[in-house]
Amino acid sequence: MAATELDQIVNLCKRRGFVYPSAEIYGGFRSSYDYGPLGSLMLRNVREAWIRTMVQQRDDVVLIDAAILGPPQVFEASGHLANFSDPLVDCTKCKQRFREDHLIDRDVCPNCAAVGAFTEARAFNLMFKTEAGPIQGAGAEVYMRPETAQGMFVNFTNVLQTSRKKPPFGIAQVGKSFRNEITPGNFIFRTREFEQMELEFFVPPADGPKWYEYWCATRLQWYIDLGIPAEMLMLRPHDADELSHYSTGTSDVEFLYPWGWGELEGIAQRTDYDLKQHTQYSGEKLDYFDQAANERYVPFVIEPAAGVNRAMAAFLLAAYDEDVVNDEPRTVLRLHPRLAPYKVAVLPLSKKDTLTPLAKQIYAGLADRYMVEYDETQAIGRRYRRQDEIGTPLCVTVDFDSLDDNAVTIRERDTTAQVRVPIDSLESEIRARLGF
Ligand code: ATP
Repeated sequence: MAATELDQIVNLCKRRGFVYPSAEIYGGFRSSYDYGPLGSLMLRNVREAWIRTMVQQRDDVVLIDAAILGPPQVFEASGHLANFSDPLVDCTKCKQRFREDHLIDRDVCPNCAAVGAFTEARAFNLMFKTEAGPIQGAGAEVYMRPETAQGMFVNFTNVLQTSRKKPPFGIAQVGKSFRNEITPGNFIFRTREFEQMELEFFVPPADGPKWYEYWCATRLQWYIDLGIPAEMLMLRPHDADELSHYSTGTSDVEFLYPWGWGELEGIAQRTDYDLKQHTQYSGEKLDYFDQAANERYVPFVIEPAAGVNRAMAAFLLAAYDEDVVNDEPRTVLRLHPRLAPYKVAVLPLSKKDTLTPLAKQIYAGLADRYMVEYDETQAIGRRYRRQDEIGTPLCVTVDFDSLDDNAVTIRERDTTAQVRVPIDSLESEIRARLGF
């Protein structure tokens, strides 16, 4: 398989309704995207796959959904107001701005090749600020969260008391975050508004290193289980000068993007930094009393932090393939069934009225369980190609024989193999092929 070019994915996403440039009829809003009918389904599938493995299949993690807007105190305590910044440099020749830590050569402008033309680096805070309430001015300022994590820390005691969990346990959240990125780009890889899937896992301090290793391995495996080839993934430990202000050790799960290796997810050892900061700033004790050991301690935190949109980009890039079927080239998205927008397409062979009632009946039965597409336009070959291109794992074809033999054809996306199955056992046949 040839490496996927970013353009191939961007075009497919636009053409088939995964992702559109935002506010396109006004010329677009830079580096913002709207997710269309297929893209919104896929985003939902990424979120649900994460919640399924990180919350549903574990008895030591609970889910919350915290506010996006927060008062300055939260971000003063967390250190984001003082520290959440990127080093910004301007090229004095071409006036372009860059993140200094992203420059390959810190003397040469990647845009105009000017040498030694950069200004001194300035710290540029990435937080979006706005005002709440009808009165403008002091006291009304609020911030849009730059990560979901603070929602877990400020609710630590609430969750501890109401969920009756004890360390080691985790609080998970999926939701939007906002960063005024200096150089957004590479499609949905880096945008100013994005969605995160974060887990704050609270452990006895001495167990921190063990759980850090555990989460690094577990998170890498999650992407492999959902279909990304292992050779397109790696774990990269951060150098000391890359670490965030709260971290004593971080590893990134990196993915081989068309432009090279880059971050897909970060796993950080946040220690007891956040709970201690919020204890100090709020005056509320955020700690845990271990009755068995009769000791009180502030748990250490391991944080796997992933991006929904960035993960979707990686899944699409890894799944994109072109092959030849019956002497004809085809584009196929070999998405894991859990991630595919539609699991099944129901395709009556012809638009003739005689087939419609049976096909609609099959559609309604399957739609009770799965996201199913019903399509009766165009020749059947073209409809198969469309489903291949949007990653639908299975097509169910209803033909004129179906009216007599009560059977339909299941066609598989990856192999294009076709098999005839009785309608009575269609649902179990589909479940066996999808795996759920
Ligand atoms: P980068 O170094 O790429 O700026 P980061 O280290 O600042 O990322 P984290 O703070 O670790 O990112 O955020 C966790 C995850 O959230 C990232 O791995 C990524 O998947 C996602 N993410 C962060 N910033 C963005 C963004 N601007 N657009 C899309 N996803 C993002």
